[in-house]
Amino acid sequence: MKKTYEVIVAGAGPAGLWLACELRLAGVDVAVMERRTERSAQSRALTVHGRSLEIFALRGLADRFVAAGKPIPTGHYAVLDTRLDFSPFETSFPYTLFIPQAATEERLEMRAAELGVDILRGTAVAGVEDLGDHVRVSAGGETFTSLYVVGADGARSLVREQAAIAFDGFAARNTMMLADVVLGMPPARPVVSVTDENGSVMLAPLGDGIHHRIVLVDPRRMHVPRSEPVTLEEVADAAQRILGLDCQPRDPIWLSRFTDETRLASAYRKGRVMLVGDAAHIHAPMGGQGMNVGIQDAMNLGWKLAAVVRGSAPETLLDSYEEERRPVGQTLYANTLAQAGLVTRFDPATLALRATLNDLLAIPAANRRMAGELSGFDLAYGPEAAAVRTDGRLAAGARVPDTVLAIHGKEEKNLYGLLEAGNWLHLAFDAGAEAPPPAWLDANAVRFVSAAPKHDGIFAGVRAALVRPDGYAAAVVRQ
Ligand SMILES: Cc1cc2nc3c(=O)[nH]c(=O)nc-3n(C[C@H](O)[C@H](O)[C@H](O)COP(=O)(O)OP(=O)(O)OC[C@H]3O[C@@H](n4cnc5c(N)ncnc54)[C@H](O)[C@@H]3O)c2cc1C
Repeated sequence: MKKTYEVIVAGAGPAGLWLACELRLAGVDVAVMERRTERSAQSRALTVHGRSLEIFALRGLADRFVAAGKPIPTGHYAVLDTRLDFSPFETSFPYTLFIPQAATEERLEMRAAELGVDILRGTAVAGVEDLGDHVRVSAGGETFTSLYVVGADGARSLVREQAAIAFDGFAARNTMMLADVVLGMPPARPVVSVTDENGSVMLAPLGDGIHHRIVLVDPRRMHVPRSEPVTLEEVADAAQRILGLDCQPRDPIWLSRFTDETRLASAYRKGRVMLVGDAAHIHAPMGGQGMNVGIQDAMNLGWKLAAVVRGSAPETLLDSYEEERRPVGQTLYANTLAQAGLVTRFDPATLALRATLNDLLAIPAANRRMAGELSGFDLAYGPEAAAVRTDGRLAAGARVPDTVLAIHGKEEKNLYGLLEAGNWLHLAFDAGAEAPPPAWLDANAVRFVSAAPKHDGIFAGVRAALVRPDGYAAAVVRQ
């Protein structure tokens, strides 16, 4: 049995699998150690946001997900009636995709297998010791060594605990209910949500054409412990009371009680140990964000860790992982805490606040601001980030949208297709224009393309741009 890897990832959830795919794509010898012997069948995360679909598109994989899910053109903030509109964003995916987490994980694991990642199932990580120049990992009764270890082992992360990284925040105060069921009486509209003095309910199709998801916050049942199993009768009764409709739930594939526990890791990196996904941040599942942010953590860390392992970038590049991604975790912490407050109180003051927010979200700029935050479309890294959001111009740190490029004035290619190998991309729109690379970047890692965008859009006035492997601009030269 092989005992030495360049990187060991603990946990084969969506964050760990995507990180392993990115590392292997860059040639890193990586193993994923997963305590479960089988993949989880739980439908958990249903919402895949447009930015995550872009991440998959950057590797040529988006079709695998889109073909298996159901696009929903709008999203929600705190189950408010005014839906979030994704149509103003420059993207090929102006929607959220409903696809059960089990199907997402199946596709990620398939990709990992295609790339040759070692996935060791039934191998629980039990100890992690950072020895300065390498890490010793005890797992499945064996001892392994690696250069780095990444904890993608979820909310109760053992890796986080072994690295003595604090996980501060709030303990659970309320429980909510979830039921993935067949409805005897399905609603007329695809997504239905009601929040009033009786509680909150949201009903949405699971994407398989058979099941619906019902999410309930019932003021009479909010203090039932998470460990108490949810019953179909409980779901039917709460839905009837809040929705005023006997939707006749039956044949459940998953019934669960979840909480509003909210915590953020005090550090995303400590020496040779890093955290991604739920190991770094947990919160009430509001707005469909946890898995999406975890996959995007992994996308940010993947190319950086690979470059450091390969010796082509200084170790300090790893610090930029925390600098870029922990603020995203802080935003996630704050917006889910706010949303949890809005869906777990049914007093007149909170209902009036909801009505006010409904009105505010009807203002296109406010709607765009919130849709941009929850979807990840508006995320930009670094000091120029705020300007990117306000003036919509491409700048260093901004998300680079996909676009059709005319190469040498004739052949047309999609920009994202030029990043599929996990490479950097230097785009020269004006002959001879050069966007400056980081001093350490090896030119062999960069694909150089002279092109012209078919539609200017965000590229108006850009002479050259250097795009990172994760699809964010590293440098932009303007006219
Ligand atoms: C009801 C509900 C609805 C949700 N809806 C959404 C949604 O619509 N959109 C969204 O983006 N997010 C949603 N989420 C959140 C989403 O499910 C999580 O954020 C996501 O699963 C986190 O992925 P992860 O890979 O970080 O961790 P996990 O999925 O928790 O995976 C961690 C893995 O590590 C393994 N593991 C744990 N300890 C060890 C160990 N010691 N050694 C080895 N392996 C270990 C576990 O078995 C597991 O496989 C929802 C969550 C819930 C509960």
